[in-house]
Amino acid sequence: MNTMIKGNTKLYCVIGNPIEHSISPQIHNSIFEKLENNSIYLPLNIKRENLQESVGVFKNSFKGFNVTIPHKQDIINYLDELDEQASIYGAVNTVKVQDGRLIGYNTDGYGFSKGLEINNIDVKEKSILLLGAGGAARVVAYELINKGASLTIATRDEKKAKNLIKDLENIFGKNSSSYEDINKVKAGYFGIVNATPVGMAPQVDAIPINEDVLKGTEFVFDLIYNPYKTKLIEVGESYGAKGINGMVMLFYQAVRAQEIWKGYTLEDSKTLPIYEEVEKYLKTI
Ligand code: NAP
Repeated sequence: MNTMIKGNTKLYCVIGNPIEHSISPQIHNSIFEKLENNSIYLPLNIKRENLQESVGVFKNSFKGFNVTIPHKQDIINYLDELDEQASIYGAVNTVKVQDGRLIGYNTDGYGFSKGLEINNIDVKEKSILLLGAGGAARVVAYELINKGASLTIATRDEKKAKNLIKDLENIFGKNSSSYEDINKVKAGYFGIVNATPVGMAPQVDAIPINEDVLKGTEFVFDLIYNPYKTKLIEVGESYGAKGINGMVMLFYQAVRAQEIWKGYTLEDSKTLPIYEEVEKYLKTI
């Protein structure tokens, strides 16, 4: 980190609780260090009960901030404006401070789609198995249907998957999303996306589906980035699938956040070398 903090240094941060394990500071500061002078990004531990009183500080002192668990929904109460996509997801991960106003965005969908794009995966008219029906699954489902995929949402709680399917129908009209019990799902999908925390450190030997389901699939996109390679990806790769971990999504949601804050476009030719550097770092933790 070479930035000397001065009176006019532009401040950015991520707010959440806990925040110690966030790798967003590494990602954002790496981008700032390479592409932008005089900006810095800090991890701020803000408890749920302190969110409201903290908002004034962000408004006055920061140019923008990211929002993570547990504030992604609550922050909406304090915004002056909400971007359409964030409104559809009902969750905000990026806030821009503009002329004393707070504008909320969600860049997770962009990050996920960029992960598919970088790996040359076209899901149009393909059947995709999505595991989970939480906040991240909602974003992924929206992106996949928007790209013309047909979706099977597999969960342990039927009601949650069916609620998500109903919400998707409200947005897209009738679509081909369907429900499966995560413990009974069978092989036959073009791609599998894991949006459950199953397999995340320290439970690294856990896998959310029966291993046989991975047979014949072209890609396995696990939103988890710690460990770098989950068991799901490991088994998928052993059956010949392309494995993609959550790092690419995390990195490109950050890139999109910076584009929103700064009002410019960051070309792949500039971001890819930084991505490779951050990825190398991540493999060591
Ligand atoms: P969430 O809202 O809590 O949703 C988690 C989903 O996983 C729920 O559907 C939950 O089902 C299901 N689940 C949890 N434990 C399960 C188990 N043992 N077996 C089957 N299903 C289980 O969490 P989220 O925010 O969507 O995050 C999900 C994952 O995505 C996390 O690993 C998170 O780190 C990752 N993520 C990555 C990125 C990225 O940029 N790479 C971004 C966002 C999230 P129940 O409702 O039945 O518990």
